[in-house]
Amino acid sequence: MKLVFLGPPGAGKGTQASQMAEQFDVMHASTGDIFRAAVAEGSDLGQTVRSYLDNGKLVPDELTSRVVREMVLERTEDYILDGFPRTLPQAQMLDEMLKERGEELDGVLFFQLGEAAAVERLTGRLVCKGCGANYHKVFMPPRKDMICDECGAELTVRSDSSEEIVRKRLEEYNEKTQPLVPYYEKRGLLRRVDASPAPETVNRETKALISEMSAG
Ligand code: AMP
Repeated sequence: MKLVFLGPPGAGKGTQASQMAEQFDVMHASTGDIFRAAVAEGSDLGQTVRSYLDNGKLVPDELTSRVVREMVLERTEDYILDGFPRTLPQAQMLDEMLKERGEELDGVLFFQLGEAAAVERLTGRLVCKGCGANYHKVFMPPRKDMICDECGAELTVRSDSSEEIVRKRLEEYNEKTQPLVPYYEKRGLLRRVDASPAPETVNRETKALISEMSAG
């Protein structure tokens, strides 16, 4: 199973991707998580991508595609790509990389959410310093204030969650990522999910769609 999760920042696709990957036993491949881990480690990749992440800008296409090839496509057959592709050139590079391998995408799930709701969700994001788990001050608070439910480490506010950076990320999305919706729709690969309800509702709908897609 090879799926792409697409949607504006804040749509909750990361949360859904992580839950679906567990339920369907496939790799959850998030370029955002890979980049954040690299920054935390201080690796060469981390030093290169840090300023892009901190300023809400997209990492250059060539570099992002190379990371996806090496860390995902060459490692496993089954995955959910969360946050990749994010530009038309990345989508074309993904097509090329899959073609070389004689593979195809099974589908693209598009998580739809209006801009006001996206801003509200994005400005309250928390992330665990230890294991990288995501939380939200209002919508998905940890059981204990600023402590990770999973590993007990301290939570911190995500460095790209100030209102100014959030606006920049949404601009980047509208300009560069939104064109992927017609790109995949024309090929009959796109399925829409309403991302505005509570995560459990979105989870049920997403699960049903994936089951339907893998059955058909
Ligand atoms: P995310 O966690 O998916 O919201 O990604 C966080 C940040 O990582 C983005 O704001 C970008 O700076 C960078 N990033 C993640 N995925 C990509 C991608 N496919 N192309 C370029 N930059 C990306």
